[in-house]
Amino acid sequence: MKKTALFLLVAICFQTFCLQLQQSFAQSRQDLVATEITDSDAYFRQAVQRPKLKDYAVQVEALLNKMTVEEKVGQMTQLEIGQITSGSDSNINIDAAKLEKAIVQYKVGSILNVNGHALSVEKWWEIIGAIQSASAKTRLKIPNIYGIDSIHGANYVRDATLFPQEIGMAASWNPALMQKAAEITAMETRAAAIPWSFSPVLDVGRQPLWARFWETFGEDPYLAKVMGVGFVRGLEGNDVSNDKRVASSLKHYMGYSFPLNGRDRTSAWIPENYLREYFLPPFDVAVKSGARTVMVNSAEINGVPGHINKYLMTDVLKNELKFDGFIVSDWQDIQKLVTQWKVARDEKEATMMAINAGIDMSMVPQSYSFSDNLIALVKEKKVSMLRIDDAVRRILRVKFQLGLFENPMPNAAVKNNFGKPEYTEVSLQAARESIVLLKNENNILPLAKNKKVLVTGPTADSLISLNNGWTWVWQGSEPSLYPTDKMTIQKAIEAKIGKKNFEFRQGTRLVRPPNTGSGGTPTMTDEEVNVKDAVDEAKDSDVVVLCLGEGSYTETPGNITDLTLPETQLKFAEAIIATGKPVILVLVEGRPRLISRIADRLAGIVLALNPSNEGGRALADVIFGDYNPNGKLPFTYPRSTNNYLTYDHKIFEVEETSYGNVANNPQFNFGTGLSYTTYDYSDLRLSSKSIPANGEVTVSFKVTNTGSRAGKETAILYLRDEVATLAPAGKRVRRFAKIYLDAGQSKTLTFKLNKDDFSFIGTNNKPVVEAGDFTVMVGGLSDKFTLK
Ligand code: BGC
Repeated sequence: MKKTALFLLVAICFQTFCLQLQQSFAQSRQDLVATEITDSDAYFRQAVQRPKLKDYAVQVEALLNKMTVEEKVGQMTQLEIGQITSGSDSNINIDAAKLEKAIVQYKVGSILNVNGHALSVEKWWEIIGAIQSASAKTRLKIPNIYGIDSIHGANYVRDATLFPQEIGMAASWNPALMQKAAEITAMETRAAAIPWSFSPVLDVGRQPLWARFWETFGEDPYLAKVMGVGFVRGLEGNDVSNDKRVASSLKHYMGYSFPLNGRDRTSAWIPENYLREYFLPPFDVAVKSGARTVMVNSAEINGVPGHINKYLMTDVLKNELKFDGFIVSDWQDIQKLVTQWKVARDEKEATMMAINAGIDMSMVPQSYSFSDNLIALVKEKKVSMLRIDDAVRRILRVKFQLGLFENPMPNAAVKNNFGKPEYTEVSLQAARESIVLLKNENNILPLAKNKKVLVTGPTADSLISLNNGWTWVWQGSEPSLYPTDKMTIQKAIEAKIGKKNFEFRQGTRLVRPPNTGSGGTPTMTDEEVNVKDAVDEAKDSDVVVLCLGEGSYTETPGNITDLTLPETQLKFAEAIIATGKPVILVLVEGRPRLISRIADRLAGIVLALNPSNEGGRALADVIFGDYNPNGKLPFTYPRSTNNYLTYDHKIFEVEETSYGNVANNPQFNFGTGLSYTTYDYSDLRLSSKSIPANGEVTVSFKVTNTGSRAGKETAILYLRDEVATLAPAGKRVRRFAKIYLDAGQSKTLTFKLNKDDFSFIGTNNKPVVEAGDFTVMVGGLSDKFTLK
């Protein structure tokens, strides 16, 4: 008897050991981009190095000297694809007469976008080939630069590899992975003969209502800075002429992401010191890392529309930051200076204001008014030749640097860089690392694979929700374009646990109301689909995986007035919860939709954000324990509609609670992210407790995996300036690391902090360092030092 028990015990121990070993192997084997980020600053410093690109001054000046005003203005003009084609979607074809008008008559130097939906590599070659052939027939044979929104992969090229949206990449806290995803994006974009992408979005997401929140790296400027240079480095590499690379466009310069009332393209009030403190840093470093183009904020800040903001475009971006690429307007934004912002009486006046303020290329994009107006303005001397030459010089330089003069079309061999199977593995890794485990009561997760599981809810069977906007079409809204071999959440879970213990019921679904024609693609709304059936099935299950969230949207169609999850979804959730079965909520959403009404009654909460086409598999891996989650929130998850503050707010809770008010109490704090193992932080050490003003302090600490399985941990180091002349933030992220730890393993991390970390932007809009006490915080530990 005793012997049997002993044998059993040994067998169990051995099995557990094997399982652990297997899991830790699995975890490291699963990660194709194995790079650990042991110090965000070290990654950042190498990524930010400006590549030594030739400036082509001799060639550019020689060409410029030969150009007429009309030719110069042509280079400054960008039209959309519909201006040179007929038909739409894949039935799009070059229209010879339109092409002739644009390229030969108006000498247009740039075309953008799709008309309808994404095109195949072959179709892109046909279209861009025709544009370049027409350009080659012009007097000076200046190649065209085609631009496209490759937002999360080459999403306007059919069958391209897509990646989690930026908000998910931010949740991974893995800039090396961001860089890798951007490299693939560049290869697949260039494989379609397109040399220019309108990405990354470097707007800092500090307004969660905003319909483009998910296009950002979240609320923290430091994280956005590090991820942003990763993105730019991935797209542009060290030599943007390489046919695996494309030019980037940093957008939307600047303050676009902070509209007062959350609606897209509306006003923001941001004093300059805060612009420089919270919104400029990602652009600043991306410019330093060599980014070739910048796109401007369509809205206005402090009353000045982005497109006439001479101070920001010319004084700050071009002169102070020494940006030597070119600035492109956003869609129709010169015209909107008249129609929306009412700062100009007519389009001609608007053109004068925008060009004189620093716009180099106008995304007109549907008429020839810009060219006509600008030529007239030059003749009337309202726009100087100096300004025109500066703009054209910048555009030509980028075209030379992209190698377009030598090869307007890439070598056909670049098509082989498209669609390699390993790209899918990178996308899967990114999806896994982007998932954030927010709640795990009594370690209900991971679920055993022999549990009887019901999967239900509006986002359970939707690739549209997993992807969000900028997917095959602008709004991501065309179901027929999605690949048929990619798994939604319910399909991936069924594949993982088998039919026997698996049920799926729709419960509620997201539907897109018919397009009325005037306002473009409407946002999706919720509708019930046999709720009773889903509830009955829940009663029969051991556990319910309830998938809620959002459909797809971007820009104005995504405007909402309330962050609360729609009533249909909340009611459905309550009906499921009422069965008494444990409920795991999976949130597929681009912004934090409020769940406070149900959160306390849920056993687990998994935030998927928009993980894209491998998201279903990644979620199944996390839910059933084949992958140990490691994402962390790159934003604050609010609890209530009117109490939202970013993590780096000022300290005032003490006073608030003394009046019995509700202090800032988010649903989940910035940086939250659970794991199936546990980490312990210890041995926090500072090199000195007293630092000279321009000195450095070295911070080190130990992270130990104290649980029973391998995992990846992001250590986030915060700094608080205790007293400052401008009310200081409670804490600011200053460094992070993302490391891999086997069960039981420890690693010591070392960060060096310097004056850039101690400083803030003062009332004179310049960085100031003030003497006094600072608190370092990491993983629940803290210590203080004094700056002399
Ligand atoms: C968006 C930009 C985008 C451009 C071209 C605009 O409406 O604001 O982000 O790059 O369209 O598609």
